[in-house]
Amino acid sequence: MRHPLSSEPVTDRSSTRLSVLRLGHRRERDKRITSHLGLTARAFGADEVILSGEEDPSALETWNSVTERFGGNFECRYEAKPMGWLRRFSKSGTIIHLTMYGEPWREAVQNISRDAPIVVVVGGTKVPGELFKIADHNVSIGNQPHSEVAALAVFLESWVGTLDELTRFVGGEIEVIPSERAKRVRNSTD
Ligand code: SAM
Repeated sequence: MRHPLSSEPVTDRSSTRLSVLRLGHRRERDKRITSHLGLTARAFGADEVILSGEEDPSALETWNSVTERFGGNFECRYEAKPMGWLRRFSKSGTIIHLTMYGEPWREAVQNISRDAPIVVVVGGTKVPGELFKIADHNVSIGNQPHSEVAALAVFLESWVGTLDELTRFVGGEIEVIPSERAKRVRNSTD
């Protein structure tokens, strides 16, 4: 299989861990959008979401509960010191910062190494200026302000490509059977 935007074959994803780091979460204001961000990360092929900013067990509970019900090995955790974590990560992995000020994603995605683990960083409140410097790629999904959820979905679609949902989301209680007109699910307890 080939990546839609690249002549390179899609890398075996098991060898390149893909994390999403949510910076600056505000428990009350960002409740729904952070929850949706983690669910989008999971659905579009990330291996984990890392929450930072205000601690929020309810976000982690939502992500774990969806993984339990719908399958897969998606992980989530809280990181109290995200910039320190990023500085350490940068020694062996690739940092991709999604920002409306960055390089256009269609070009940038072709220059990102597929040999090392990557972390995709999205902001909430204003991001620290240092992030622009330590990121290996500052990537824009268009140069207009919009949503971190939309930016992440578009980036992951162009980076991961088509997911094999049947092999990725195994072991859950519920499997959705795609249907043109009906709501069909298979329940592991049936
Ligand atoms: N500070 C604003 C607020 O609290 O209302 C929100 C900032 S923006 C919605 C949050 C994040 O969305 C940014 O840090 C960035 O990661 C992502 N984002 C927004 N527009 C983007 C774009 N055009 N390209 C890439 N990322 C974008």
